Amino acid sequence: MKRRAQQTPLLPREHDQPTRCTLCEREVMQTTRHHLIPRSEGGLEVVDLCVPCHKTLHSFFSNRTLLDELHTVDALRQEPEIVRYLSWIRKQPDRVIRVARRKDKR
Ligand SMILES: [Zn+2]
Ligand SMILES: [Zn+2]
Repeated sequence: MKRRAQQTPLLPREHDQPTRCTLCEREVMQTTRHHLIPRSEGGLEVVDLCVPCHKTLHSFFSNRTLLDELHTVDALRQEPEIVRYLSWIRKQPDRVIRVARRKDKR
């Protein structure tokens, strides 16, 4: 099955030193770049997120919701679903974490 090219590539960048994820603030060896405002909308502001945080954002929310409501780190941190996710992820070590796809994406 062929997948459509993703608008926001989740290709992780490897670091020599642990880097802090902007959202969950865990120290991780890989980060991915999340455009708070999608490039297609002229956004330039980029944050470094760990892989599970990034996957979670795009699994919980559509690009539209991210753009309209969640285009700042503060807004993301206050979103109830993210608050719940963060309290869980902060207890997880830096390892591969499976993020379930959601059907009720908004
Ligand atoms: Zn994170
Ligand atoms: Zn992203």
